[in-house]
Amino acid sequence: MTGWSFLRDVDRQFETAAAHVPMQDGLSEKIRVCNATYVVRFGVRLRGRMETFSGWRAVHSTHVSPAKGGIRFSPHADQDEVEALAALMTYKCALMGLPFGGSKGALKIDPMSWSREELEKITRRFTQELARHNFLAPSQNVPAPDMGTNELTMVWMTDEYRRWSPSDINAFACVTGKPLAAGGIEGRIEATGRGVQFAIREFFRHDDDVARAGLTPGPAGKRVIVQGLGNVGYHAAKFLSEEDGCKIIAVIEHDGGLYAEQGIEIEDLKRYLQDNHSAKGYPGADVIDDGASLLMRDCDILVPAATEGVINSENAKRIQAKLIAEAANGPTTFEADRILRSRGVAVLPDLYVNAGGVIVSYFEWVKNLTHIPFGLMERRHHETSHRMLAHSLEAMTGMQFPSENARAFLSGAREIDLVRSGLDEMMRGAYREIADARWTNGEELDMRTAAYTIALRRITEAYNAIGL
Ligand code: NAD
Repeated sequence: MTGWSFLRDVDRQFETAAAHVPMQDGLSEKIRVCNATYVVRFGVRLRGRMETFSGWRAVHSTHVSPAKGGIRFSPHADQDEVEALAALMTYKCALMGLPFGGSKGALKIDPMSWSREELEKITRRFTQELARHNFLAPSQNVPAPDMGTNELTMVWMTDEYRRWSPSDINAFACVTGKPLAAGGIEGRIEATGRGVQFAIREFFRHDDDVARAGLTPGPAGKRVIVQGLGNVGYHAAKFLSEEDGCKIIAVIEHDGGLYAEQGIEIEDLKRYLQDNHSAKGYPGADVIDDGASLLMRDCDILVPAATEGVINSENAKRIQAKLIAEAANGPTTFEADRILRSRGVAVLPDLYVNAGGVIVSYFEWVKNLTHIPFGLMERRHHETSHRMLAHSLEAMTGMQFPSENARAFLSGAREIDLVRSGLDEMMRGAYREIADARWTNGEELDMRTAAYTIALRRITEAYNAIGL
């Protein structure tokens, strides 16, 4: 969209919410602006010539440290986008009550144009620049994967940081989203998509919100359209279809869309996309050349999980979904948000819906700092005491413990169980908080503005507490 500024939209949303939060004079501006953006340009010798790359790491707020936020590899990245995403991270972490400020980074690069060895060289060079300028450290700034980056990118960054700072015993906590074998945590890869699932489940526990959106109760049987079958979109689509009975009737990818009223089998499509790097020619659905047109097809739930600004003033009037769950960051422009609201479409905002990634990143960071896996100390102890309780019940009643409950009750929680339970707890709690915050001074706010007011209240309290 020519002329559209992602950052200006985030700022407008901030100002809408700030009008509802009492703050000392001038604090609102201090919170809104991005603290610092480091612009980096570096050269790497590749394919016999020097290639120059540009990147950014923006720190929006350090009212709590470290600042947290992903690193994106995209040919479309620019400073406006990085600063908008960093601001969203500040508000997201504050909304979820996580002890992080907000940050985001990007490298202007098409990862598909480079081999794995070349990407490693480029990533390591980028990491050196970030570490050297204090934009990477467990106590200061902690990246994670985002569009175009993954576990492998995080391993290279961690390894480079460890070389840079060999005496830092907490070095593994400099980055989250690492593979399990390299200091990661169970359930991090799926975390954002899992959080999207939990957000939608929680929406369906709120009967008034469901009725107001014109939906029938429960996620089962709902017709869902997903845009972007990358990390977030794939896991969200997989869990919603395999565990909650939703039907994924359309998937929109970068080079076209797929439509099948009977539902698309997500694992099958994922395999096809991995092998072909394109949705074109997939035999399990109708191929639609203008993929974005599927955003406007009739469905119950639309899950934009690709990129920003895709629901805008040009298409918002024609969106037919009753519920939009913003898995991507900033998929709905400020203007489009107003149009959707005036039409009664329910919008679950990005800073809530996609918070699963940073929540589980928080667990991973804590695991790295404590140097002990979650549940290690308690698991056997819980198993023993649960077993004793089961035997006592059997002895007292003369009855057998029901076998269908035995496995879940008798075995102690594994790391993945604790991660999922912690994530579910935080997603449920945040929805209820947002629902409560909607009613401010007798006026009803939309979900996004309500979520922002919670974040702004928390940030204001943090500044007040330190006397600023
Ligand atoms: P990804 O790179 O794994 O996947 C993105 C997918 O979207 C790819 O399959 C790509 O082909 C597709 N795509 C790109 N542009 C498209 C377009 N215009 N139309 C349709 N499809 C398009 O990225 P991801 O990590 O899944 O991130 C997706 C979104 O979720 C981003 O907005 C990101 O900031 C946000 N997010 C990601 C995480 C995370 O943990 N990865 C956490 C929070 C938010």
